[in-house]
Amino acid sequence: MSSTERMWNAEFEMMPRDQLQKLQLQRLKQTVERAYYKVPFFRKAFDQKGVKPEDIKSLDDVSKLPFTIKNDFRDNYPFGLLAEPIENVVRIHASSGTTGKPIVGAYNRNDLDVWAEVMARSITGSGASAGDVLQNAYGYGLFTGGLGFHLGGERMGATVIPISGGLSKRQIMMMEDLGSTTLCCTPSYALALAETMQEGQVSRDRFKLQRGIFGAEPWSEAMRKEIEERWQIDAFNIYGLTELIGPGVSCECSQKVGMHIWEDHFLAEIIDPVTGEPLGYGQEGELVFTSLTKEALPVIRYRTRDRTVLNVEPCACGRTHVRMERIRGRTDDMLIIRGVNIFPSQIESVILTLPDLEPQYFIVVDREKSNLDNLEVRVEATERLWIRGEEARQAIAGRIRREVQQIVGISIDVKIVEPKSIQRSEGKAKRVFDLREL
Ligand code: AMP
Ligand code: ZN
Repeated sequence: MSSTERMWNAEFEMMPRDQLQKLQLQRLKQTVERAYYKVPFFRKAFDQKGVKPEDIKSLDDVSKLPFTIKNDFRDNYPFGLLAEPIENVVRIHASSGTTGKPIVGAYNRNDLDVWAEVMARSITGSGASAGDVLQNAYGYGLFTGGLGFHLGGERMGATVIPISGGLSKRQIMMMEDLGSTTLCCTPSYALALAETMQEGQVSRDRFKLQRGIFGAEPWSEAMRKEIEERWQIDAFNIYGLTELIGPGVSCECSQKVGMHIWEDHFLAEIIDPVTGEPLGYGQEGELVFTSLTKEALPVIRYRTRDRTVLNVEPCACGRTHVRMERIRGRTDDMLIIRGVNIFPSQIESVILTLPDLEPQYFIVVDREKSNLDNLEVRVEATERLWIRGEEARQAIAGRIRREVQQIVGISIDVKIVEPKSIQRSEGKAKRVFDLREL
C-alpha cells in the first residue's frame, strides 16, 4: 500500500480475497432468498429456470440464476420489484427507461447507509478527506448523481456544497470564494466549466481545486488528460447506475488504473452479450451485477449493457477489490446526453406521431459547442410540408423539440430536411452518428 493512500474503510477495502469471497457468498445467499420469497417477479423467473435459493452453494452458482434487464424494471413500474412494503422506503430515485416510464430506484434506511458507505469509500479513494470542500455539481433531484455524492460527502465529513449542475459563472465564483478542493460532476461539464473559467479570464491560482470525481457518462483517457491539463487537477473516474444504487458501485483509487468495484456490496460478472455465458477476468464483455446488501430492491444478475473488462490483479493502492476498466461502449443503443439517458426510440416515437414527416431520420451527437453534448435530429419532410415553406417547417421542428423535451427532459436541435435527402438503408439503418470522441 502506498503510504499516502487514503481509505475510508481499510478493513473491508483491503480484505483478503478468500475472506471477501466468503462474505460475498453468505450475502449472495441472503439476497437470493430475499428476492425469491419476497418478490413474485423473481420467484417466477427462478421457477422458470428451475433454480431454487438452496441451489446457491458457491459463488460460481450465480450463473444458474436468471438475468434481469432494464425492461423488467419498466414492466414492474413503479414498485413491483420491491422486497419490502413501500412504508419502509425512505427515498426514490429515477432514470429514463427505454420508453415513457422511468426506471425507479428505491432505498430503505439501510440501503441509504450502504450508499453513503460506498460513496464515502469512492470519494476517499480520490485522496479527499474530512477537511475537503466538495463542490457537488451533479444534478440534484431524481437523478442519483447529486444526492449520492451528497450522502457520501457528508458521511466522510467533507464540506459539501450542493450547488447542482448549471449556472457556470456562479459555479466558478463559488469555487473561488468557498475554496472548493474537489469538483464532482460529469466529465463534459468539467470541461465546460474550465472554459467558463478561461473565458472569464480568472487565473487558476485563485482556486484551491485539487481533484475532480467524474462519471455518469462515457469518457476517454484523452478527455481525462484534457480535464487534468485545463484544470491542473487529478481527475478520477466513478461509475454507477440507478438500477444498482447510483454512483459508487466502483471508483478509481490513486493509481487511476481501473475502478475498484465495492465487491462486498456488488457481485460483478462479465458475460458474452450474445450467448449470456460467463467470461473470465481479462475478457471484454457485458457487465452484470447482483446486489449483495440491498434490501428494498435486491437485484439479481442485472445486465447493465455496459462493456468492459475486469482485472483481479493486486492494485498498488492495497485494495483487494476487483477493478473494472473504463466503460468501452454499450451493447444497446442508449445515448447519454449531458448525463441524461436517451434512447433513439424515444425520439422516433415523437417523429412517427407527427403529421407531414417521413419516417426517415437520423441523430447526430457532438460535443462542439462549449464542450457540452449537443443532439440534433434531422427529419425528412413530406413533399406537402416542403412546399409549404420554411415557416411550416420551423413550426413542426418546434413541436418535435418540445415533445422530446417533455419526455426526456433535455433540449435538442431539430432540422427538417428535403424529401428523399436521407439515404435509405438496405439493412440495419444507422440512425445515430455519435461524433463525440469518447
Ligand atoms: P443512470 O442510471 O441514469 O445513472 O445511468 C447509468 C449508466 O450511465 C451506466 O449504465 C453507464 O452506461 C453510464 N455511466 C455511469 N458512469 C459511467 C462512467 N464512469 N463511464 C461510462 N459510463 C458511465
Ligand atoms: Zn487501487
